[in-house]
Amino acid sequence: MSLPPSPSPSDASGAASQSASHSNDAQRDCDAHDADENVRLGDSTLAVHAGESRQKPGDSITDPIFCASTFTFPDSQSVIDYIQQQLPREEYGRYGNPGERVVERKLASLEGGEEAVLYSSGMAAIVGLLMAKLNAGDEVIFFNECYHRSREFCSKHLSRFGVVTHQVEACNYDAMEAAINSRTKLLVSESPTNPHLSCIDLERFGELGRRRGVDTLIDATLATPYNVRPLEYGVDYVLHSATKYLGGHNDLLAGVIVGSREKMEAIRKLRGIMGGINSPHNIYLLERGLKTFGLRMQRHNENGQAVAEFLEAHPRVERVLYPGLPSHPYHDVARRTMRGFGGLITFMVKDADWRQTANIVDATLIPRIAPSLGGVESLIEQPLIMSYFEAKPEDRAAWRIYDNMIRLACGIENSEDLIADLDQALSH
Ligand SMILES: *Cc1c(COP(=O)(O)O)cnc(C)c1O
Repeated sequence: MSLPPSPSPSDASGAASQSASHSNDAQRDCDAHDADENVRLGDSTLAVHAGESRQKPGDSITDPIFCASTFTFPDSQSVIDYIQQQLPREEYGRYGNPGERVVERKLASLEGGEEAVLYSSGMAAIVGLLMAKLNAGDEVIFFNECYHRSREFCSKHLSRFGVVTHQVEACNYDAMEAAINSRTKLLVSESPTNPHLSCIDLERFGELGRRRGVDTLIDATLATPYNVRPLEYGVDYVLHSATKYLGGHNDLLAGVIVGSREKMEAIRKLRGIMGGINSPHNIYLLERGLKTFGLRMQRHNENGQAVAEFLEAHPRVERVLYPGLPSHPYHDVARRTMRGFGGLITFMVKDADWRQTANIVDATLIPRIAPSLGGVESLIEQPLIMSYFEAKPEDRAAWRIYDNMIRLACGIENSEDLIADLDQALSH
């Protein structure tokens, strides 16, 4: 046994865990098929098979849950080989878990990206990316319709580290370009946005970033890779709260970022330090949920469209925001870039104050009153009460959160039943 030139232990483990993630030699039949045939397999085929080994431990058809905080080496030479040859294996749970690698490969494959990094929540993913990319003095530009906790992290916390955040009106690409200067490092948007469901012209957004040499990030939680794949439009990073459609059963929290191997390297390294990782059980739940991803999305899209059309025609409804409706301001962009428009619908009740709106929410029998979206159970909420109850009226007005606004996240129930339930609630 020969001793290696001595790298510091922390450097070595970091470097080794990094490379292990890239060179896992588990069979990747679906990914290989993709590359060989130069055809993209369907989303359901990828959701079921991509990233998995054909033959698994114990000859089990499902992946085992590797309940391990650490991974053993048979002898010291194996540790040295692992470090020097960057062998594909696990080392310590914070750097990765075999089950996590399966799910990361599955998500990268669905998204058409090289590398996915999984986090314990969508917010952990957003924070992980921003912390990896931004230094004191750097600037980041957001479209202003965004998840309120992302906004809060930037305005209250990134500012403490000397990062400057600009917000410009959603979908105003000229305003975004005008806000770019030599310190700008990242352009961020959701698509569709929450709760207004504005859809980003991804071609334009990606082109703007490339032309000005600034990286671009799309939080595509509401769309999922079933409906849109931002990387195909030249966007650098796509991010999801996997808590929503990817997990799909309202029973887990997780987050993921997908991008090129090169761009994801620093992000993965920082995750190994910050530690926002999933438990092995949680990873299994996510893999289990993903098996039915294609089927679920098909139904969420169908339910969203049917219920949105019903609501738009209802005399007690003032206005419906759903990208699949021709009346939606971003319907054309959505049709160009999206395959379906998801299960989330926002609508305003005609001539209703906040109490009367709450009464309609309370009169529904199928959707449950809760925040979140993307699970099999339909969820309903009044944004004013659920997310903005303590916000100042002028802030609510600026964010276009109205008293008579209801957000409905259609699950996978039968659309006829959801429609009949909404009909009775609206006549309340
Ligand atoms: C829910 C959500 C998040 C946050 O994700 P968590 O998993 O709850 O941390 C971020 N962005 C969007 C668009 C979301 O809907």
